[in-house]
Amino acid sequence: MKLATYDSSGAASGLELFRYVPPGVEGSPRCQCAACGDHIWSSGAYRVPGLAGLYCGMPCIETGLFSLNHCRWCGREMEKPYTSVESRLCSEDCGANYFAHVLGDGAARLGSGKRFLLWLQRKQPATYREIVSSATLEGFCKNPRCPNGENGQPASLVHLRAGTKYCCDACRVQAQRSPDRQKSPSKTPVFIEDSRNSSRRKTFPLKLPKKRGWRNTSAFRG
Ligand SMILES: [Zn+2]
Ligand SMILES: [Zn+2]
Ligand SMILES: [Zn+2]
Repeated sequence: MKLATYDSSGAASGLELFRYVPPGVEGSPRCQCAACGDHIWSSGAYRVPGLAGLYCGMPCIETGLFSLNHCRWCGREMEKPYTSVESRLCSEDCGANYFAHVLGDGAARLGSGKRFLLWLQRKQPATYREIVSSATLEGFCKNPRCPNGENGQPASLVHLRAGTKYCCDACRVQAQRSPDRQKSPSKTPVFIEDSRNSSRRKTFPLKLPKKRGWRNTSAFRG
């Protein structure tokens, strides 16, 4: 299986589609991340269609989708009681992918966005297409309407020279004729940082209880 790759800025710009700022007062926490419990401030967080709650970043979105009673690979809800990680892998395929790409080579480790993209592709193809187009996906044709890829993705560029942006001349021309789709989708690069390191958080005067748990990837493996 071919997995789309996010670079860090790409993940941020693609995720901008899901940005939501809950109402509240500037300088006060507005609500909490549904996965890690960190406070969400005026910069907002992500609200993914089909997933309840607000999430502060990709690790937390993937935690929301693939933890607890959900298949660790595809996110399907599972009813049988938890015994071991195998009890949270709904099919042989999911098991094989999980062991190969999460526990194995780490390509789909928590927070990489890969399992999220696969989930989105399956559950919400239209949204998937949109996020893939707006994100800077490494190794894919940068024409948002590229018709040459598989499974709704733009064409892969792996066989082309490094630095190549488009799979063919037609894509280059089409992309350059639609400047509205080409402008940087990320107006607030601040957002790329880990929110725990933001200056706002450092200067917040109260000692907030720090919830731990799902940030710890190893806790997620069991
Ligand atoms: Zn979080
Ligand atoms: Zn599954
Ligand atoms: Zn193309």
